[in-house]
Amino acid sequence: MSKAIVASEYGGPEQLVYTEVEETAPGPGEVRVKVAAIGVNFIEIYRRQGVYQVPLPNVPGEEFAGEVVACGDGVNWLSVGDRVATAKGAGAYAEFVNVDALQTVRIPDDVTYEQAAGAMLQGLTAHYLCNSVFPVGPEHTVVIHAGAGGVGLLLTQMCKLKGATVITTVSTPEKEILSRGAGADHVLSYDDFEVKVRELTAGVGADVVFDGVGKSTFEQSLLSLRKRGWMVLFGAASGLVPPFELHRLNGLGSLVVTRPGLWDFTETSDELNWRTSELFGLIGSGKLDVRIGGIYPLKDCGAAQEALAGRGTTGKLLLIP
Ligand code: NDP
Repeated sequence: MSKAIVASEYGGPEQLVYTEVEETAPGPGEVRVKVAAIGVNFIEIYRRQGVYQVPLPNVPGEEFAGEVVACGDGVNWLSVGDRVATAKGAGAYAEFVNVDALQTVRIPDDVTYEQAAGAMLQGLTAHYLCNSVFPVGPEHTVVIHAGAGGVGLLLTQMCKLKGATVITTVSTPEKEILSRGAGADHVLSYDDFEVKVRELTAGVGADVVFDGVGKSTFEQSLLSLRKRGWMVLFGAASGLVPPFELHRLNGLGSLVVTRPGLWDFTETSDELNWRTSELFGLIGSGKLDVRIGGIYPLKDCGAAQEALAGRGTTGKLLLIP
């Protein structure tokens, strides 16, 4: 037997029960991993609440790093003892996880388990947003909401490495300091940010808004954009954006709106490995700082989720089994 978190009903953090579960051998194509660090993500809160439906009972979590302790049939490219990480390892809130080996990547020696678990989901998200959804360059002014959050800090650093001008939004002076530390050129509060973005861009507007906040920022984000600008809605930390009349995009200056998701940008092993090797390369060379905002014992995952939902966190929260 080993320990895991099991949720049997939708609801609050009290549904996340630390309990014993059966040990199982990895199936064909899987590896069994002794988990060293687990990333906490918003999607786990939505799933716990039933906003996104999952089969119950359910072991939450998807993002972790750890050591391979057994390989299933057909897995000949990984060995016992390898250090691996994944953003798609269902049932990550556990001491041991069986995971599709194709969804794992090797962790280089110069990247720690904590950095890997802290960067897989948000780092890959930041990577696909600024490389593939809207390829950012030195000629661009980008707006990034929640600039001191997990994705926000990483995306700000990546956009700065590409030479862009970065404007972020944050809710507190402490978060402003963090966002500036990540390289943001201008850090705004959420009040009337669209007016300030226009001022900062000589009335033109930003080229792209990366918006993971959603409901409370969407309308102002549209008003922050230049003609033919890109509205990249990638999350809903404040709630889902209500239905939207597409015709309005014309009057707002032929805007583009997209709602991308990580899985569509890491569909093949080649794409996953390309993004991860760039991400780990930046981390290992010290160009990208993965800020760990808090470390909780696995059994306290409910408190970690509440902290994330309560807007009090900066950077990445980790669980340690
Ligand atoms: P963050 O660490 O950014 O935390 C969310 C932040 O959003 C808060 O810290 C807060 O920052 C801001 N916020 C604004 N309004 C609210 C509110 N009402 N309630 C809570 N937070 C609020 O989280 P992550 O980096 O983990 O994720 C950011 C977003 O990206 C999430 O929406 C997540 O679901 C999404 N995501 C999307 C992916 C994709 O592929 N589409 C993949 C990964 C994440 P402040 O106080 O400064 O406003």
